[in-house]
Amino acid sequence: MALRNIVKEGDPILRKKCRPVDEVTDRIRILLDDMVETMRQAEGVGLAAPQVGVMRRLFVIQPEPDKTYEFINPEILESEGEQEFTEGCLSVPGYIGEVIRPTHIRVRAMNRDNEMFEMELDGLGAVAFCHENDHLDGILYVDKAKDVREPEPEPEEGEETEN
Ligand SMILES: [Zn+2]
Repeated sequence: MALRNIVKEGDPILRKKCRPVDEVTDRIRILLDDMVETMRQAEGVGLAAPQVGVMRRLFVIQPEPDKTYEFINPEILESEGEQEFTEGCLSVPGYIGEVIRPTHIRVRAMNRDNEMFEMELDGLGAVAFCHENDHLDGILYVDKAKDVREPEPEPEEGEETEN
């Protein structure tokens, strides 16, 4: 596995629409492995292929520690509710903003074995899916967010944990 370079806002790659994956090959599986590693190293909740310069419809999310999901050619089948969530993006470092996303979604995608699956996501899982899915259409969260700002510095208290 290898770390990939994360494309930053301003690069036209992030504004293009990605093409579907016809068939998952070893090359795509290596890309997925690299994206998971890159997401974890950057402490992100998700990472989409265009963020590492690959114009294909796939992304990874990690809504809970050590729980990683991969979606290839994802589709949202149903969405319900509204939640306002503070989002950030590895391609827009140093900023956060509030975005309204559904509370619950049902999705369909292909897995790395070329099999279709459906699943339901809520909370941070739904937010992360919608954020990454937007990347596949060249949409960044800052297009939808209100109050995009630099986060407040963390208050210094007690010991800091490093991990
Ligand atoms: Zn993002």
